[in-house]
Amino acid sequence: MKTQQQYPAQFSFELFPARTPEGAAKLPQIAAQLAVLQPKYFSVTYGAGGSDQDGTYETVVRVVEKTGVEAAPHLTCVGSTRAKIAELLQRYKAAGVKRIVALRGDLPATAHGAEAPGELHFASELVRFIRETEGDAFHLEVAAYPEMHPQASNPDIDFEHFKRKVDAGADAAITQYFFTADAYFDFVERCERAQLQLPVIPGIMPIVNHAQLTRFSAACGADIPRWIRLRLEQLQDDKTALQDFGLEVVTRLCETLLKAGAPGLHFYTLNQVEPTLRLWKNLALPMPLQPAV
Ligand code: FAD
Repeated sequence: MKTQQQYPAQFSFELFPARTPEGAAKLPQIAAQLAVLQPKYFSVTYGAGGSDQDGTYETVVRVVEKTGVEAAPHLTCVGSTRAKIAELLQRYKAAGVKRIVALRGDLPATAHGAEAPGELHFASELVRFIRETEGDAFHLEVAAYPEMHPQASNPDIDFEHFKRKVDAGADAAITQYFFTADAYFDFVERCERAQLQLPVIPGIMPIVNHAQLTRFSAACGADIPRWIRLRLEQLQDDKTALQDFGLEVVTRLCETLLKAGAPGLHFYTLNQVEPTLRLWKNLALPMPLQPAV
């Protein structure tokens, strides 16, 4: 049974498709600046913020063209059909994509806790479908929730559902972001007890904006510990002080995780270079070339 520290460390950066023409023009430059750090791959979200699958596809293609670094599209099954997913997989395969982040996706607001619309209802069904139709053509990453998925009824049931994704053929997991390292360690221990053999990469959210972090955290169920919340509230009108405090908190979190054997980090970059770069420097991670930022 492999422990987390026995997996090779991998660092990856998440981007989202730009929402405006100006954003689209800037994104390859952002990717190029982050590519200097030689991540294992970039991942590109789908659906969040209203992006469509073409936006994800085009961003993946442009990022690879600009940086030469592998890019992994996020692929969600909510509201889709087997035929549409199969077509998309062919499109990605033809573009040379070898890694996919396989997700259910967020339910539309109209779903009100009901079953996800579409032919595949959960990420485990999507993973199974990809394995059945494409074998090992793709390396599959799935989502993990150390603090429980917000719609799950309890942590054990949620963990059983996570296990289904692994049993269906997931290769690795990326966690929802969290600020309490023990939540990650507890999740990894549960994986070990259940004999799940896969790297669980912590998802890292830089703290750059109080209102945005509060909104994201309420939506995805990430806990902001009281002491952090109080400090952020106090510093919310002083951007520099807030970001310095956030950097300190997240640096300490990353150091704790890496020291205890987390096999890398996945940075939610928010399409910004500076927060991830500052963290990277603080952590003294390898700097293959000096980026001009
Ligand atoms: P699942 O693993 O299917 O779980 C969803 C819920 O259903 C959980 O509560 C689970 O306990 C429950 N469940 C699972 N299987 C069953 C079952 N058989 N029976 C009953 N209940 C079950 N969203 C986007 O829209 N676009 C993105 O690009 C995106 N990227 C993300 C990247 C990462 C790393 C993470 C952590 C999340 C991302 N999300 C994204 C958010 C994600 O889509 C949502 O959290 C979504 O609500 C759940 O997706 P999932 O793949 O974890 O679903």
